[in-house]
Amino acid sequence: MEQVVIIGGGPAGYTAALYAARANLSPVVLTGSTIGGQLSLTSEIENFPGFPESLGGMDLMDRMRQQAERFGAEMKYEEVTSVAFEPGAHRITTDRSEYTAKAVVISTGSSPRLLDVPGEERFFGRGVSTCATCDGAFYRDRKVAVVGGGDSAMEEGLFLTRFASHVWIIHRRHELRASQIMQERALKHPKIGFQWGSVVDEVLGDETTGVTGVRVRELESDGVRDLDAEGLFIAIGHTPNTDLFNDKLEVDEQGYILTDRRQHTSVPGVFAGGDVQDHVYRQAVTAAGTGCAAAMEAEKYIAENAD
Ligand code: NAP
Repeated sequence: MEQVVIIGGGPAGYTAALYAARANLSPVVLTGSTIGGQLSLTSEIENFPGFPESLGGMDLMDRMRQQAERFGAEMKYEEVTSVAFEPGAHRITTDRSEYTAKAVVISTGSSPRLLDVPGEERFFGRGVSTCATCDGAFYRDRKVAVVGGGDSAMEEGLFLTRFASHVWIIHRRHELRASQIMQERALKHPKIGFQWGSVVDEVLGDETTGVTGVRVRELESDGVRDLDAEGLFIAIGHTPNTDLFNDKLEVDEQGYILTDRRQHTSVPGVFAGGDVQDHVYRQAVTAAGTGCAAAMEAEKYIAENAD
């Protein structure tokens, strides 16, 4: 029987591991395949306190992992396939093994939402992307498009101006959702053009070249226009990675795990931290903070429920 099993290896999971390890709970971290979480796909982190010169996302995640391992956390690069929450002995099955734990911390994060339009799947990874920091450099002196009107879309669009000759931002309304500062930066950028009140109807391309354009439809007029773009970056929000837990824990209307202010889920001994339970802040530092709180609550729970 493990003391604590942590599901997910992003900033919340690694921080939970660090705290649980320092509490002598020998946590097992089941990282799954996206080791380091979404942060490992981010090129530069400028807002993680303590790193005034900024650092790479992968670098930050490596440091967090090493720090947790230093105190005895064990990383298992296994994919969880099912869970059975039974207070006192929660069971977690992976593609390779099975674990029983007194407490579980869920930190499985969230995944980018997709459009579900023709061409999206076909050209995914060959022109269609959800990560400008991963793929932006492929578009030097090329035209690209971003879909979305929130902070992520502005961030992606602004990042892409470093490489692309022109960036279209396609937004379904006439008003942006992004924060004021991000809006201003995007609106006045000479390389960014807005396609307002429009949705993507189709990603255009062929097998040899990949993406060649984006068919957009203006909602008011129903008029269709093909934008010249060799890349389409989708930034329309995220969905929490809760497939394993949906029918086992209480979730909100968007599927995020419901926790109280101390990271307790609806099942005793099961805690959650990071983006899987937070659609408001979604920052590395808040994920780390809730991961820490989840581990401290797990420690308390184990002590209070000792045999
Ligand atoms: P978001 O704020 O939920 O914005 C999603 C955008 O995509 C909205 O503009 C939405 O349009 C649009 N959208 C949603 N579904 C769509 C669809 N099917 N087709 C077309 N458009 C669609 O998500 P986000 O930008 O990822 O940001 C999430 C949170 O993270 C926010 O709190 C944000 O402030 C934060 N964040 C912060 C930073 C930063 O501080 N630098 C960076 C990134 C994210 P509508 O506006 O019409 O709903």
